[in-house]
Amino acid sequence: MISWFRRQRPPLERDVVTFSLENALTQDGCALCWLLANQGRRSLWYLLWERVNEPSTQERLRADLGYCAGHTWLLCEIETKEMGSFLGITILFASLMREAARRLDAGQELGAGHHCEECRTDRRANATYLSRLVQHLEDPTWAAQWGPRLRLCLPHSRLASVLARGEVETILRVADQAMAADRQRLVTTATPADGQRHLKYVQDMFFGYTPDSAARDRAPRECPLCRAEAQQQAILADWPVDDSAPVPCRQHAPLFEQRIGLQELLRRYLAAAELIQPVSIPTGPKLWWKHDQPARPEIFVPPCPVCAALARQRPALAAAFWQDLQPRSQIAFQAPLCLSHLDLVLAAAPDQAARVSLRREQASRLRMLAAELDELARKQDWNHRDEPLGPELRSWRRAANCLSGWLAGASTLTISWG
Ligand SMILES: [Zn+2]
Ligand SMILES: [Zn+2]
Ligand SMILES: [Zn+2]
Ligand SMILES: [Zn+2]
Repeated sequence: MISWFRRQRPPLERDVVTFSLENALTQDGCALCWLLANQGRRSLWYLLWERVNEPSTQERLRADLGYCAGHTWLLCEIETKEMGSFLGITILFASLMREAARRLDAGQELGAGHHCEECRTDRRANATYLSRLVQHLEDPTWAAQWGPRLRLCLPHSRLASVLARGEVETILRVADQAMAADRQRLVTTATPADGQRHLKYVQDMFFGYTPDSAARDRAPRECPLCRAEAQQQAILADWPVDDSAPVPCRQHAPLFEQRIGLQELLRRYLAAAELIQPVSIPTGPKLWWKHDQPARPEIFVPPCPVCAALARQRPALAAAFWQDLQPRSQIAFQAPLCLSHLDLVLAAAPDQAARVSLRREQASRLRMLAAELDELARKQDWNHRDEPLGPELRSWRRAANCLSGWLAGASTLTISWG
């Protein structure tokens, strides 16, 4: 089998992917995560710099109704922190708010964050980098030079191991052991002073690359259901904590840290890492370097207990929204819902009249927000720069909150195949 496999392999040329891989292998941490993080930032930067005003770009993003929560906030961070502006996101969000209002008027589901273009790009890039890395490691000369530098996070290491054959399996195993030793050393030597740095390192290794940003708004949200979920999180983290319990996502880790301490939390991540295995074994022909017939390895882990509990409670939360709103005329006085909760609540509406009334009311709120965003964009224009900014200054943040939905992450491990 192996000789057949070797004979069939096409000659490997050095190209931009090869150089990117080699550059990534000189960095700290997982080389593939480093590549994904960089290409994601580049792609969003390019969108803001060149493409945000193009009708075709806006049309495509309207069709997806924006990005997932992680990429929405990454976009905000890149423009506000790195480019020192918020004109691009303001224009984009206004167009998305109007599209959401149009869908509500048409009685359509919103599905915000379900069809993120950047996530699709990430998955394609992941498949390219991962299969190319394994292909290069098949070359003994390349493997001798770069193999010893190889560090992969848990998801990437497990995904790569499904593609690997023969010698490459050994290289990956050695890299894996080096990573495990690194983690173990960190945990046993962790002091409270460098604890958060260690926690981030262990989480990066456990979860792999997750698009997100420190710019994500942690302040109380307008959406009453987002606020309710934020309050529930603390209660739900009061979960029986035993050795068999799944580990928390990045966002909910602090709740567990308060209860069981940093050392114990780190130990849990390491213990859980041992238990995670790939994988749906490739079912197609083993010509995995061909893009049209890739193997599809995946990683499955139990979801974060707080995220899972929140997901279980969501139907009850949506039902409570309607109970709290009797009589229904009060709908008009509620704060706007985020788009994810709005879909949930509309699906749980007691009757068609209530659903239509909520759609109409929320569509008008979204159009008001779009008008505020227009005003903010207008004042960014050179001719109006002297005009003082009012409450519309925070409208891009409120729009990002509205688009990015509830606080909890959808899944624990986000890296998957192309
Ligand atoms: Zn990785
Ligand atoms: Zn995304
Ligand atoms: Zn919400
Ligand atoms: Zn969670």
